[in-house]
Amino acid sequence: MNAAPRTGRGGVCVLASFMYDLVATAPRRPGPGETLIGSHFATFVGGKGFNQAVAAARAGAATTVIGRVGDDPFAAEFREFLAGEGIAAADVRTDPEHGTGVGLPVLDPAGQNSIIVIPRANLAVTVADVEAARERIESAAVLLLQLELPMDATVHAARIARAAGVRVLLNPAPAATVPTELADAVDVLIPNEGELRQLTGADAGQPVLDVARRALTGRTHALIVTLGPDGALVLEPGRPEVHVPGHRVDVVDTIGAGDAFCGSLGARLAAGDVLTEAVAFANAAAAVAVTRRGGAPSAPTRAEVLELAG
Ligand code: ATP
Repeated sequence: MNAAPRTGRGGVCVLASFMYDLVATAPRRPGPGETLIGSHFATFVGGKGFNQAVAAARAGAATTVIGRVGDDPFAAEFREFLAGEGIAAADVRTDPEHGTGVGLPVLDPAGQNSIIVIPRANLAVTVADVEAARERIESAAVLLLQLELPMDATVHAARIARAAGVRVLLNPAPAATVPTELADAVDVLIPNEGELRQLTGADAGQPVLDVARRALTGRTHALIVTLGPDGALVLEPGRPEVHVPGHRVDVVDTIGAGDAFCGSLGARLAAGDVLTEAVAFANAAAAVAVTRRGGAPSAPTRAEVLELAG
């Protein structure tokens, strides 16, 4: 782990993606050439980074975001939402050329979802954008990263944080390989089971704990594998593995479960919790989130999490 935060440092900084979600609820995805009548339509401000920032803020962390949106009505909705959550957004640029990113999820009645994402302005985030926000990163306790933004900007943010002793959390989503230069700057890696298999090249038949142990071999960072309703595994070099069981809840919509988990985890680590305590909180926060519709709007407050966790 990195050094303890310096005096005056605090909160969570998120290098964030912004995706405006246009959500259809339908019995299933249509087949090629098919038109299917769905039952519901809703719009949500989303994107993994944005959702995680909202979850961090609701869990009680002073939260800042860095990123890009377009010059369009979607962006105005994002800015209004961020302001309403008390999230500092001075480092979210308005891109003059590309529109705000959009996501097109389809939700089935069982609460499972599949999504098409068109990143637009998110892909225009540059190393210079990150450099301009250096002070934001250096003054945070935790930097939270995902893989929805250009890799060079993501690596640059991780390196700034690492050099300043800011703890770096990476949610390697959407599933992809993580380049060594990024992995080397990470303190806590938080994949779901599918992302873990993608990272390691392990097939579906191999037990998740074996895959996780192998992923940690030779690494100095911690690894948290989220397991959907089964909770999460926590692996830290030199410590016993811990399985934090999931909470039994009535699932309405799993969109944003992983984001609620990562954002609230970041908030609790920034507040000084040890890793297993922070994971227990994040697990409860994500369980509350799946009982509600939407991405960011489903993230619970600290009081709501404590009510479930008891
Ligand atoms: P998503 O992509 O749906 O946002 P994910 O695939 O990134 O989520 P998961 O491992 O499915 O991540 O879920 C993240 C966390 O959310 C879990 O570790 C758990 O705490 C909580 N969670 C997810 N699904 C459920 C569920 N059905 N019941 C209770 N908790 C859940």
